[in-house]
Amino acid sequence: MDVNEVAAHYTPTIGEETTIPEDSVVKIDLGTHYNGLIADSAVTVSLSDKYDDLVYAAEEALEEALKVVAPGVPITEVGKRVERVLKNYNYQAVSNLTGHSIEYFELHGDVSIPNVQVNWDLGKFEEGKVYAIEPFVTFEGRPSKVVDWKPGGIYIVNKPRNVKDPEAKSLFDEINRRFRTLPFAERWLQDFMPADKLHLNIEKLVKLKALYEYPALIEVGGRPVSQAEHTFVVTKDGALVTTQ
Ligand code: MN
Repeated sequence: MDVNEVAAHYTPTIGEETTIPEDSVVKIDLGTHYNGLIADSAVTVSLSDKYDDLVYAAEEALEEALKVVAPGVPITEVGKRVERVLKNYNYQAVSNLTGHSIEYFELHGDVSIPNVQVNWDLGKFEEGKVYAIEPFVTFEGRPSKVVDWKPGGIYIVNKPRNVKDPEAKSLFDEINRRFRTLPFAERWLQDFMPADKLHLNIEKLVKLKALYEYPALIEVGGRPVSQAEHTFVVTKDGALVTTQ
């Protein structure tokens, strides 16, 4: 297993010693917010020219998809555009990773934006709403999808829980205060609690289902994956990208 086939939802733990091997295709997916207004964006870095085209293809697919966005345009147009671009490269999109709508303090809203063609209605882009488009690209062959790998070190508050353990409770309160409904990594809390204690208490909270830990997602065939992503607001004139 290496970073090439890890498509999403993996972040280093505190003290992680894994290195990124030569020729790797590294997806860097960044999310941030200002008072609950979210920006979600990703780039892929190829450490050798071997996978340059894989990176370009994702970027081109994203760019082309952004061009079709306008109020009233069916969400499914994105998958059509992405597929058209990727066919030229002899690549395909990972079928079960999608773009998404974004709401106030909510990274993944109700709308999913597939990167492949689908034959059902997914609604239309709406003026004033915020979305992210993010094609994930891999080689042709059998249809591509991602499957769960190991826990990926990215957490989110699952539900309010009555946590009895005082240390775990103080951590849970702090997490709710700092991150509310947004995902976070363990290392962002190192200033609040020493690393060993922190890890123990986070595990406790996961066990109590107070926190949810996302599994890292890997390409089912072990193929390298690239990704490109932008967040945008839909205006009368089309997609106004907020992550450029
Ligand atoms: Mn996203």
